[in-house]
Amino acid sequence: MGVADRQRPFPRKVFFLVTVDGDLRVGSPVQQRRGVEALRACHARLGLLGRTTWFINENDFGWTEQYGDLLLDLADSGEAIGLHDHLDTHDAETYADALALMSRSLEQVAEFLARAGREGPLRAHRNGCFQQGEAIYRAARDLGYIWLSDVWPQMALYARMVRDGALPNPWRRLGREEGGILIDNARVPLNGTPWRHDPGNWLDTASREGHFLHVPVTCAPFIDWERVQAALHAAGERAFLVLDTHPYDLQDPETGEIDPARVGTYETALRRVRDGLSATFIRIDEVGAFWPA
Ligand SMILES: [Zn+2]
Repeated sequence: MGVADRQRPFPRKVFFLVTVDGDLRVGSPVQQRRGVEALRACHARLGLLGRTTWFINENDFGWTEQYGDLLLDLADSGEAIGLHDHLDTHDAETYADALALMSRSLEQVAEFLARAGREGPLRAHRNGCFQQGEAIYRAARDLGYIWLSDVWPQMALYARMVRDGALPNPWRRLGREEGGILIDNARVPLNGTPWRHDPGNWLDTASREGHFLHVPVTCAPFIDWERVQAALHAAGERAFLVLDTHPYDLQDPETGEIDPARVGTYETALRRVRDGLSATFIRIDEVGAFWPA
């Protein structure tokens, strides 16, 4: 390897995954709907329709009952649809409890899509609050999930979402003293590199085989340029950067209304990813095609 290779500052190919956790936490159902629509409108303006991944939180927010039209819209425009289960909110920590909760959301969304004639593989899953655990991954494997995105490199935090407050945002995150769950990914390298693993070795980032393909989160809930640059500098030939965001990140938490400043920040940053990094936007189900290892 020559000096030029060692100093090569950027990977030759940058893939970028916009992933949306379908938690609809802020405001009235109408305002929550506007949050989804605002995000979709941003993606449309950037030419990203059909290039994003949506992890639907069916258990807590009843997408199939209340927002079925939005779900069908996502399916019809070709987004990857996965499930987002906040096991933390439901204290589901054993295999049996995780399986029960995750089965429910998967069956409801799968049946809803099938009834509407939009059968698609539901193989992508993200846990709430970046939670990780062997029992959860056994349940995920047994339910047929293969694409995961739970690990948040270089981060350690306590978290658990509970709904015990007043509108417009009745949700809050519990910390260490209140029963939050420790997520410790401080030692995971931030290098935009996926790995493959089985239920018990999800932090073995050197692993290149296993049931799951894990695409770690680069930044949340907006683009963090420091982390993006760090990941790009540490990546190999190809970098896979993941943004983990929510519809409510475009809403004003005080009123529930769409906040034009947040929309502007979000859209400007994604435009910079597209044009400045010459990134190719892909869905989580496409990563394997570009990451054959
Ligand atoms: Zn969530």
